[in-house]
Amino acid sequence: VTFHLGSVTIDRVLDIDEIFFPSDYLFPDATRSAVDELSHGFVDEQFDRDSGMMRQAFAAYLIRGAGPTVLVDAGVGRGKHRPFHPWHRRTDDYFLRNLAAVGCTTADVDYVVSTHLHADHVGWNTELVDGVWVPTFERARYLLARPEIAMLDEEYVADPEVCLGSYRDSIVPLREHGVADLFDDEHHLSDEISLSVRPGHTPGTTVVRVASGSETAFITGDVIHHEVQLLKPEWSSAFCFEFDRAAAVRRRTLTEVAETGAILMPAHFPPCRLQVSGGGFETRSVGQT
Ligand SMILES: [Zn+2]
Repeated sequence: VTFHLGSVTIDRVLDIDEIFFPSDYLFPDATRSAVDELSHGFVDEQFDRDSGMMRQAFAAYLIRGAGPTVLVDAGVGRGKHRPFHPWHRRTDDYFLRNLAAVGCTTADVDYVVSTHLHADHVGWNTELVDGVWVPTFERARYLLARPEIAMLDEEYVADPEVCLGSYRDSIVPLREHGVADLFDDEHHLSDEISLSVRPGHTPGTTVVRVASGSETAFITGDVIHHEVQLLKPEWSSAFCFEFDRAAAVRRRTLTEVAETGAILMPAHFPPCRLQVSGGGFETRSVGQT
C-alpha cells in the first residue's frame, strides 16, 4: 500500500511478514488473564486468542517526493550472527525485493534514519562483502540520534556484542566508512520531514513526522509495538529502557496522532488512524489518502 500525503508518498516495506510471540514475552503486564479481560477493540489478526500469541510484523517505511528519498529503519537484515532467535539470522533478500517492488534500488536512498538502534531496526544498514561489513545503501547518509550513540559507544567498550552484536556489524561500519551523521533532539531533514528524539523505549528513540498538503504521518518505531497498547498505553514492552518514560512518550505521541488526525505508522503492525477512547485509543481505518 502506498500512502499519498500531499506531494509525498510513503510505502511500508516489510522485512518479515509475521512472527507470533507469547503476550507476556512482549509485555510483562500482559498476563493471560490481563489479556483475556480485554474483550473487544483488539483486532483479531494481531492476537490469537486461543494460543495467547501476539503477531508482530517487521517493517520499514520509504518516503519519496520532490525532496530526498528517506528510508526509516532497516529491519533485521541478512547474514548477521545473533545469539538467539533463528529469525534474527536470516539470509534471504525479501526486504530488498520488497523495495524493488515499489521501484526503489539501494542506490536511490539519500538518507537512512534509525528510529532507534535495536538489532531488528538496523540490520539492512550493512551487508557483508568480501568479509567486510559495508553500507548497503551506497549513496546514503545514515542519521543516528546522538543520545543513542553516546550510550552505546560506552557499552560497546565494555561489551562489543552489545545489542546482540548489531552495534558492531550494523553501526560501527557506518562510522568507519564516514557515512554516519549524528543529530540532537530536533532535526529538520526537509520541508516535509522532521525528526524528534523522545527518550523512553531507548535513550535516542526518534519519531519521524511527515507532513505535506493536509496530511500528516508519524513513523514511531517502537514507541508502540502492538495494537494491545492502544487499549493499554501504560504497558511498556520488555525491551523498553525506561518503562515509565516509555509509557509517557507513548501516550503523548498517540494523543498527538489522534488529535491531529494523522496516520500512525508503527514498526510492528499496520498503519492506522486513532481516536481517543476511554483511557486509551481506538483505531480508525486509514481511508483514502
Ligand atoms: Zn523493534
